[in-house]
Amino acid sequence: MPTGRRIGVAMASHESGTFNPTPTTMVDFLAMGLRRGDEVFELEGVGGVGGFLAEAEAHANWEIVPILSALTVPGGRVDQGVIDSIGRMLSDGIAAAGELDGFVLLLHGACAGEGLDDVDGHWLHLVRRSLGSEVPLVLGLDHHANVTQRMIDGCDLLVGHRTQPHDVADTGRIAGALLAAIVEDDVAPVTSWRKIPLITHQEQFLSHRPPMSLWFERARALEREHDAVLQISVFPMQPWLDVEEAGWAVVVHTDGDQALADRLADELADLVWALRDDLLVKDSISIPLAVARAESAAEGIVVLSDTGDSVLGGSGGDSTALLAEMIRQGFSGPALATVVEPSLRERLGNARVGEEVTLLVGGAVSLMHDPIELVGRLVFVGPLVVPTEGFWTRSVDFGHGCAIETAVGTIVVSERRGFGGVLPAVYEHIGIDPSEFKAAIVKTASNFQFFADLSSEVLRVDTPGPTQSDLFSLPWERLPRPIYPLDSVEGWRT
Ligand SMILES: [Zn+2]
Repeated sequence: MPTGRRIGVAMASHESGTFNPTPTTMVDFLAMGLRRGDEVFELEGVGGVGGFLAEAEAHANWEIVPILSALTVPGGRVDQGVIDSIGRMLSDGIAAAGELDGFVLLLHGACAGEGLDDVDGHWLHLVRRSLGSEVPLVLGLDHHANVTQRMIDGCDLLVGHRTQPHDVADTGRIAGALLAAIVEDDVAPVTSWRKIPLITHQEQFLSHRPPMSLWFERARALEREHDAVLQISVFPMQPWLDVEEAGWAVVVHTDGDQALADRLADELADLVWALRDDLLVKDSISIPLAVARAESAAEGIVVLSDTGDSVLGGSGGDSTALLAEMIRQGFSGPALATVVEPSLRERLGNARVGEEVTLLVGGAVSLMHDPIELVGRLVFVGPLVVPTEGFWTRSVDFGHGCAIETAVGTIVVSERRGFGGVLPAVYEHIGIDPSEFKAAIVKTASNFQFFADLSSEVLRVDTPGPTQSDLFSLPWERLPRPIYPLDSVEGWRT
């Protein structure tokens, strides 16, 4: 029987969309549930922490010491309060935990803050300092992370998600298994990593389809081919991250074989560099065409992917571009849509369900869209806390909400972005049956899985916003240059 081990775990996850000017605050973290100490066990079976806890069960000698679970829907840069509060919760929690024999830390990897580009590296550094340099530390990241030197230096080993849409539980499970390899089996990880001066829009991000699948599948194949490989992670960084050190990355860990790690890291960097123009192919269509095609579709639900306003990429969820075009075209739908309006409470006043209202909504978060006037009958008013069926967490708080039946469809308006209509549960929760609708504006460019059983097709729409596919017209300031395709770049090594 192996000796008992005390294993710590913490999650602090935020993905920043730095072109969304509205800062992310602790209120946004509280909307998805902030858990400290033993409260983290409430996430058994849910998300990355749930995956780690499942793996931990295989190690009877482990005592799990949970420190923190804090996550948000993606958004603008986190404010100083978030940087400091979460940093303190991590440091103080570890200090109070006593001696630990290993630690799994689940971060996003694309969290930028006000005045600090690499917040994840900062939090990792605090965790490492609290643990001491000898305690094995495995880092789990989203594969849209911007991997930095500070992250590489701060952990013994790291693992990124293996699929898009993400299987976050899988990453937690693998992180636990890798920690076990170090703590129980004495493997000695060495690291090789490559930074690739590349940025692409999100339209080819699905990891089960070429060209992206070619990169991920090659990583898996190399893991199978070489016994010494502990983990290979490839990182197609999300493209709305205007930070220093930005770019794609490959990270290879082997058990003591540096030359092999170097060779495989080079191979995977070469491969994705060769695929770079295929990764830049756009298949989104214009807003007027998308609305017209949804109108003429034989059956619904036609999912209209609002690529420029992807709440899961950090946008504000406040774009009105598709809705405005539906109104202009007299879309007969009906359609389902969500819009974020921070002033909803004041604008609604005392209006009640059943009343006719005229409500100005949208444009107040990302500051890249015009507000529009919704005219119709209120069918719901009240707090909107939506169960997530295990997607990331247990529930997400949209703040005050309402639903308005308009000429083009039913629009859910909320104070906060929540998941912006990515989950049918947003509608079902307030008594709306999505299957009765012809189209749904879904504020994601990749996470269509929740509508898969309900939808007839997905139309990717080339909409403007902080997560738009047109990377060339975004106001870059901090991105390292040259970077492809914004600049001409000879090779990834240059
Ligand atoms: Zn991601």
